[in-house]
Amino acid sequence: MIQRPRRLTPPPLEQMIVVMNTRRGLSKLSLFGNGFPCSYCGFPAESDDHTPPRCLLQKPYPKNLATIPACHKCNERFSEDEEVVEAVLAHVSFEEDLMRERRGGKVARAIDRNPKLKASTEGQTDENGRFRVTKKTLGKVSRVAEKTVQGLYFRRYERMLAPQDVTVLAIEHQHQVSVDQMIKQFCGPESWPDVTRDGKALERAALAHLGDIKVDWEDYQPGVFRFAFFKGRRSRLVCLLDLHQTLVVAVECPRPPSR
Ligand SMILES: [Zn+2]
Repeated sequence: MIQRPRRLTPPPLEQMIVVMNTRRGLSKLSLFGNGFPCSYCGFPAESDDHTPPRCLLQKPYPKNLATIPACHKCNERFSEDEEVVEAVLAHVSFEEDLMRERRGGKVARAIDRNPKLKASTEGQTDENGRFRVTKKTLGKVSRVAEKTVQGLYFRRYERMLAPQDVTVLAIEHQHQVSVDQMIKQFCGPESWPDVTRDGKALERAALAHLGDIKVDWEDYQPGVFRFAFFKGRRSRLVCLLDLHQTLVVAVECPRPPSR
């Protein structure tokens, strides 16, 4: 007889440390009973969730596309949001690939199939054909960005972030705010060379004209999805998501404990 894994009440998220096997995408070692905890809520996971989510990538997907354990409830909750995010990206982008998706590709087909998505997309398009993102839609983009950072953090630091520890700082269109401007806006004082003790503001203004602050990008799918973690203000960590060279999202989370 096959014994089913025991269901336990999850311990607080910060007590759960899971080592991930990136080859199969499943946790090999878990301090949480026999089952794998959901990476987002901590309850037992019955499925896997792709991270970064496929809605932020393009086919053919990268070969090392990782999955992390997730429960059905979180998986379902995110799938609707992901469809919306994919439609938003296709509607606000000036990238050729995405404009094709919108005209007759995957996104156009998804909208045809889904009356709710169709109504929301049409509702956000003005008489001049411009797409105006509503607050509700922005909330969905935020949720997908936050869970993406939870997944990326999990992959990089092998630690879970509680949902309440992840906060979107800004979502910008790269035609308005560049990725470099976002880095300058959110990087902490430690990222700046310490030349003078009291001339920080002046130094900052001068450097802003001189050059860019370098951050370590992981170019997951070139031109489509890259991300960088860097030190932000108030001892926090910032994760910047560059989505299709179209949107740039800054997400704040706690710094990983030093090992
Ligand atoms: Zn869950």
